[in-house]
Amino acid sequence: MTNPTFPVTMNTHPKLPTFNMDEIAFGKHFTDHMLVADYENGAWKNVAIKPFAPFELDPSSAVLHYGQTIFEGIKAFKNEKGEVVIFRPDQNFIRFNTSAERMQMPTVPEWLFMDGMKQLIQLENGWVPNKPDCSLYIRPFMIATDPFLGVRPSATYKFMIILGPSGAYFSAPMKISIEQKYTRATPGGVGFAKNGGNYGASLYPVVLAQQKGYDQVLWTDALEHKYVEEVGMMNVMFVIDGKVITPSVDRGTVLKGVTRNSSIILLREMGYEVEERNLSVTEIVEAHKKGLFQEVFGVGTAAVVSYISRLAHEDYIMDFDVNALKVAPALKKQLNDIRMGNVPDTHGWLVRI
Ligand SMILES: *Cc1c(COP(=O)(O)O)cnc(C)c1O
Repeated sequence: MTNPTFPVTMNTHPKLPTFNMDEIAFGKHFTDHMLVADYENGAWKNVAIKPFAPFELDPSSAVLHYGQTIFEGIKAFKNEKGEVVIFRPDQNFIRFNTSAERMQMPTVPEWLFMDGMKQLIQLENGWVPNKPDCSLYIRPFMIATDPFLGVRPSATYKFMIILGPSGAYFSAPMKISIEQKYTRATPGGVGFAKNGGNYGASLYPVVLAQQKGYDQVLWTDALEHKYVEEVGMMNVMFVIDGKVITPSVDRGTVLKGVTRNSSIILLREMGYEVEERNLSVTEIVEAHKKGLFQEVFGVGTAAVVSYISRLAHEDYIMDFDVNALKVAPALKKQLNDIRMGNVPDTHGWLVRI
């Protein structure tokens, strides 16, 4: 099926005409419409665009008890010409179905995920901010809806897409503590999937770190806490002796970020050597002692590139002058320039609506 047009019920009380686009905080405001689809008897049906509103769920719904729920995070941008583009949604589509398979949920077809997303964004065009660094955040997700308390894969699901305008995501440089007790992901586990439980489980260790004056944790491997994996909900990159090093995704404990992949490609084009491999905390500390540890930063859709001003391994503190960073700001600018159409999209990463 190509370019289906899903039925639309218009919101009779849209917020858009009076919505103040100057006050857009990430994740707080949603547009006037959403896409909804049901999975029943082995097929996706009832695909429709409706007014954004709460919906009913049976209290015994599987998602509320056993956590069969997955999501994606994507951004759309409006450039100076007023064109709306989505950044690499094909990659999110692939990853959504990877997550679905791991959580024993049905995959979604391209006509539902991609064409549904495009039709919804076309309808919500007025909600895409046209200011630098602002975007429309796209949140596709799926939940298990069987009204049944037995532990088994649900037979029914809901797929939905909601949208929210997102402001220039200013985040102060982060202070990070290297996690030595708790884990985000285990080999054989679900760390490579964007399923809800991963995020619920990460909150406690992060709050403990915050009580000690840090913003986030640098997750290390579950078995030995020896190798670094991710920073908060982002992939992480290190610059050591002029080389960029990012943890390998081979063990399934590091999420395959679209920003991570894009960053590796762009950094190599910018002339940097990039290694994807295991990186130990010992190697990092040794490099710091020799004065070779130059930068560490997070990469992800929400904040693009997040600077880190302090990294702590127990009592050993490594500080970075964020005004002296070279690689992170250059990467951030290149990613933003591509998304805003300031430089040619030589990789075909932008999907025009
Ligand atoms: C979503 C996510 C990322 C970043 O992925 P992007 O595709 O770049 O947004 C990294 N780590 C975790 C755990 C995530 O959930």
